[in-house]
Amino acid sequence: MTQTSQASPLSGGESLPIARETADLRATITGWRAEGLRVGLVPTMGALHDGHLSLVRLALQKTDRVVASIFVNPTQFGPDEDFAAYPREEASDAAKLAAAGASLLYTPTVETMYPHGFSTMVTVEGVSRGLCGDRRPGHFQGVATVVTKLLMRCLPDVAVFGEKDYQQLQVLKRLARDLDIPVEILGAPVVREDDGLAMSSRNAYLTTEQRAIAPALNRTLRRVAADILGGAEVSDCLEWGIGELLKDGFSSVDYLELRDSKTLAPLDEAPDGDARLFIAAMLGKVRLIDNIGL
Ligand code: AMP
Repeated sequence: MTQTSQASPLSGGESLPIARETADLRATITGWRAEGLRVGLVPTMGALHDGHLSLVRLALQKTDRVVASIFVNPTQFGPDEDFAAYPREEASDAAKLAAAGASLLYTPTVETMYPHGFSTMVTVEGVSRGLCGDRRPGHFQGVATVVTKLLMRCLPDVAVFGEKDYQQLQVLKRLARDLDIPVEILGAPVVREDDGLAMSSRNAYLTTEQRAIAPALNRTLRRVAADILGGAEVSDCLEWGIGELLKDGFSSVDYLELRDSKTLAPLDEAPDGDARLFIAAMLGKVRLIDNIGL
C-alpha cells in the first residue's frame, strides 16, 4: 500500500495527512473505527474559504475525526462551464483544513474516481428538477454520483454540506434516504462576506467592478422576502426583483423563485409553512447563486 503523504509543514509546525489513494483513506478510517471514534466527511472542490471551513467545524461538533475531500468533479460541469479553469490550490487548502481541525485530506484523481469503463450514474428525480437542475443539465447527476462514491469510500457517520447549495443539499438527503446509505446528511448555514455576498470559490472570478455589483443579489433577495412576508403578491415581488438586478448591472437572471424548503415544489402564494427564495444570476460570465428562508 502507498504511504499516506504529508502536506508541506505549516508555519505553526502542523501538517495535514493527505490520502491520495482510497486504500490509504480506508486504512486511516478503519484505525479510527477500531478506537471507537465517529467520523465526519466534508466533500469540497477546493479553493477553500470560510464557508467550507464552517462545514469542517460543524462536522467536528458531531464527530471525533473529520475527513475533507477535494475533488474537482468533471461529471458535474457542463461542456461550456469552468472545469478546466476551476482554481486548484491544494497546499493552502491543506493549511486551512488543518487549522480548522480536519484530521485528513482526501484527494482522489479523476482516473481513480472514473476508471476506464465506468458506466454507473446516480439520478435523483424530483428535487433535482427546476432551479439549477434545469439550468445545468446533468449537474445533479454528476454531484449525486460523486457523493455516492465518496460516501461509499469513507462510510462516515455524518456528511456536511452547505445551504449555499440548498437544492444540492436536498438532492443528497433524498439520495441517502432512497439508497439506505447509513449516514446523517447535515446542512450548514450560508457563510457570507460582510456585504452579504455568499462566499464562493467562484467569487474570485469577479472583476473589481463586478464585485461591487454582486452584493445586490442578497440585498434584492432580502427585500423580495420582506415584501412577500408583508403580504405583497408573490409574482409581482419576483418580477420586481429580476428587474432590480438587471438595473443593478447583472447580465441576466436564470431564476428567482419561491419554493417549499423541503420538497422544493414551486409556490405562487405567500407561504404559511416553510418557504425559501432561490436565485441564480449571471454577472458577465460568472454565475452566482443564493437563497434565503422566509
Ligand atoms: P464546493 O467546493 O463549491 O463544491 O462546495 C463544497 C461544500 O461547501 C458544499 O457543501 C457547499 O454547499 C459548501 N459551501 C460553499 N460555499 C459555502 C458558503 N458560503 N457557506 C456555507 N457552505 C458553503
